[in-house]
Amino acid sequence: MPLVEIRDVRKEFPARSRGGSPTVAVDGVDLDVEAGEIFGIVGYSGAGKSTLVRLVNALEPATSGSIRVDGTEIVGLGERSLQRVRRDIGMIFQQFNLMNSRTVYGNIAFPLQVAGVPKSEHRKRISELLHFVGLADKALAYPDQLSGGQKQRVGIARALATSPKLLLADEATSALDPETTQEVLALLKQVNTELGITIVLITHEMEVIKTIADKVAVMEDGKVIEQGPVFDLFSRP
Ligand code: ADP
Ligand code: ADP
Repeated sequence: MPLVEIRDVRKEFPARSRGGSPTVAVDGVDLDVEAGEIFGIVGYSGAGKSTLVRLVNALEPATSGSIRVDGTEIVGLGERSLQRVRRDIGMIFQQFNLMNSRTVYGNIAFPLQVAGVPKSEHRKRISELLHFVGLADKALAYPDQLSGGQKQRVGIARALATSPKLLLADEATSALDPETTQEVLALLKQVNTELGITIVLITHEMEVIKTIADKVAVMEDGKVIEQGPVFDLFSRP
């Protein structure tokens, strides 16, 4: 069973003005993400990548179709059950989305608090996470004291706090310079191989896909126009 199974999924946003036409952001997408892989979704801006990933995390409801995460159908699922599904999913963002008024420690503690993890367990868990992402000495720093690469490491630690099965990355390296991009991609590779976490990453940069993805889907105009192992797609004449 794939960890994520997407069948004929469609997402329509209503027209902005009366008489205007709705936007079909995702248009009949089928995708299988197997446990343990790094799955890249690539395409130009506006292709529907971000919307698709938001559907998988149930941040937006799909208009129609089926999305199974670890066997659970999430389309039409109630909020309580969705919260349980979301606990298995971590997410990182282009702009990191850290809380600037909280320390690194406080940012990573946040998902633990939401998940109801007893405070007595926070310190050990956060310390492990900070070691893993290479920021053991930054617990008391505030986000605006950190570089972009360090902020994304905090984003990764926060996303991993509740030990998800799936990590979703939305343009996670797009705000970073080339060298820092390589460092963060290496860390994501480590998340995959050492922690066994499946990763779905979306990007407009083919280089990112070539560097770490096992499989790739190419999106255009809401549709997946091509998908397969990265090796096959790039060795084709
Ligand atoms: P990508 O991530 O590939 O850049 P998006 O998923 O952000 O693409 O956008 C796909 C299409 O859906 C675009 O035409 C975009 O304008 C539209 N769209 C995305 N979010 C919304 C929204 N909340 N309301 C209306 N239209 C949206
Ligand atoms: P609160 O919910 O009241 O903010 P926290 O559990 O977030 O409480 O912890 C309070 C503060 O204690 C943290 O923001 C952090 O500054 C500090 N702290 C606790 N444990 C550690 C630790 N292991 N390393 C660094 N700072 C810590």
